[in-house]
Amino acid sequence: MRIDLHAHSNVSDGTETPADVMASAARAGLDVVALTDHDSTDGWAEASLAAVQSGLSLVPGMEVSCRTDQGISVHLLSYLHDPEHPGLLEEITKAKDARLTRAERMVTLLAEDYPLTWDDVIHQVAPGATLGRPHIADALVAAGVVADRSEAFTSILTSRSRYFVQHYAPDPASAVELVRAAGGVPVFAHPVASARGRIVGERTYREMIDAGLAGLEVDHRDNPEEGREFLRGLAAKHGLLITGSSDYHGTGKPNLFGENLTAPEVLARIEELGTGTAIVRP
Ligand code: AMP
Ligand code: FE
Ligand code: FE
Ligand code: ZN
Repeated sequence: MRIDLHAHSNVSDGTETPADVMASAARAGLDVVALTDHDSTDGWAEASLAAVQSGLSLVPGMEVSCRTDQGISVHLLSYLHDPEHPGLLEEITKAKDARLTRAERMVTLLAEDYPLTWDDVIHQVAPGATLGRPHIADALVAAGVVADRSEAFTSILTSRSRYFVQHYAPDPASAVELVRAAGGVPVFAHPVASARGRIVGERTYREMIDAGLAGLEVDHRDNPEEGREFLRGLAAKHGLLITGSSDYHGTGKPNLFGENLTAPEVLARIEELGTGTAIVRP
């Protein structure tokens, strides 16, 4: 069984529709895939239909944007939560709305130095999608400023750049609690991805574990090997699940479906713990 539990569609910053993401997953030889768009579950319905048609199982999921009181960005994967749980819905809606104002502010700053307008960015975003820096990157590519998203993220759009603006995001421990309250299974995404920005310390892990964290995404290309060792130790100590996934974004990132996988026993445990919605099977 080939299980990949982290993928994005154009409901957030992936480049393919939810149906196309399922087709790509099937083509890559996966048996089970999770759709985990940033702060949105809008792709679930389309993905469910397409998964069944492709003979795939779909784990409905989401990636919740969070930020610690020290300003460190944390991504929290949620599997099998109730998409209509009011508390969780309120938080992700707040974050999603804040992403819009934040992108406008970044474009205002960028426009001082680059040929970029707000219209150029909107042109890159599917209607209703969760807006992110990747869409700004796409507009910069279209304007000929950079060659691809990766180049934009190593220079103009890094979290250390002078054009970078933060947006509202819940605290990681509160997000873990909300995901649990919504019947979901919270898994800390790429926890030691130090190339993306600062990573959290002991206190945040402790707070997230106390709040009900279920697992750690250990096998992800952005986690350096020494960080994975640390995560495996933490998982053993606290009885956390270990997942591995690609973080597929279509052509928006080099990440390929199936480059990291999750064990069937771990998926079985996620299915036992998740009570907000069910795995969709063909
Ligand atoms: P944002 O949430 O708007 O701050 O943007 C962060 C998103 O950008 C993450 O979800 C990543 O998927 C994406 N991202 C980060 N680094 C890169 C990169 N080097 N190339 C393409 N996308 C990236
Ligand atoms: Fe993303
Ligand atoms: Fe992420
Ligand atoms: Zn992701």
